[in-house]
Amino acid sequence: MSEDPDRLSLADPYTVPTAHWHGLDDGRIQCDVCPRNCRLREGQRGLCFVRGRVDDQIVLASYGRSSGFCVDPIEKKPLNHFLPGSAVLSFGTAGCNLACRFCQNWDISKSRETNTLAASASPDGLARAAEKFGCRSVAFTYNDPVIFMEYAMDVADACRERGIRAVAVSAGYMNAAPRAEFYGHMDAANIDLKAFSENFYEKVTFARLPAVLETLEYLKTTDVWLEVTTLLIPGHNDSDAEIAAECAWFAEHLGPDVPLHFSAFHPDFKMRDVPRTPPETLRKARRIAREHGLRYVYTGNVHDPDGQTTVCPECDTPVIVRDWYEINDYRLNDNGGCACGAVIPGRFDGPEGGWGSRRMPLRLADPAKPGAGKHDRRALAL
Ligand code: SF4
Repeated sequence: MSEDPDRLSLADPYTVPTAHWHGLDDGRIQCDVCPRNCRLREGQRGLCFVRGRVDDQIVLASYGRSSGFCVDPIEKKPLNHFLPGSAVLSFGTAGCNLACRFCQNWDISKSRETNTLAASASPDGLARAAEKFGCRSVAFTYNDPVIFMEYAMDVADACRERGIRAVAVSAGYMNAAPRAEFYGHMDAANIDLKAFSENFYEKVTFARLPAVLETLEYLKTTDVWLEVTTLLIPGHNDSDAEIAAECAWFAEHLGPDVPLHFSAFHPDFKMRDVPRTPPETLRKARRIAREHGLRYVYTGNVHDPDGQTTVCPECDTPVIVRDWYEINDYRLNDNGGCACGAVIPGRFDGPEGGWGSRRMPLRLADPAKPGAGKHDRRALAL
């Protein structure tokens, strides 16, 4: 009989011990990475599937394994104020700590890792690949990096050594101590604010809104460049009242300069009966956000040059004219300054990147090895 491929074992080269957990009086061990606080008995996996308990500790079973790599425009993350026009090396693993019924990457997030994690790469191998393909950053995306934080932090460190930055694309569902550790390694984040109602979070994502708002407020206090995305789903989170409530909170807690993206939903996973988001809904949301004083509000997943252009708030000049992921006109200096003297908030470092809207899937052949990075804690025992 063949061995159970889902069985956790520290003998597996991609399984590493982790730090954020504690034992409970009833013999279970609690993973402390995200507010799910999974309480596990020996051999059990958490809801995210890639973390679990073996040998009386919580392990990560996807260190160095990926569901694939791709060079993308940074605008696809989406980040509009972070090295505009540059290429980013995107990758993800498997599993997720949310369970969104509308997941647009469900083949990855809901997969059992053994049939998805075909590719592998060490942190240094990824950093070298990013450099080779002219990427100015690496993005942890497709699924939530919260659940593979040890691997993501080591990749970010290896990238930093080569002058390449790290981007987290996340739902922001993370506990305070691991959050501080994780974002200490990141340069930018796009956080999905999936709705502005507790009811939606509980029924549709099986998570809780206050924990996400806490992450947003935390990030605002750090040096991590922050942008936020809300996917508008017809009939579920797109009422005027809910959008207005989100924008009022946003203006009060994050201020007018954090970019907010409203993007279009397409029917997927367990929400195939819901229609696509009409472009007019995105434009309406943008109008509401601007009425609340937000200066950088964008529409996404549609052609809408007006809704995708960055306008200088001082002189009203369109300074970055975009259509979807393409930059058609760029009028900022190397530091993000407009000709009028105003500086657009963000991370600008040199001219526009020129990558365009291309998407280039990659195959990497660089298996991760034990002791590959600082958070591969096996290195401590070698
Ligand atoms: S990271 Fe995974 S195992 Fe840990 S609490 Fe969250 S869902 Fe559970």
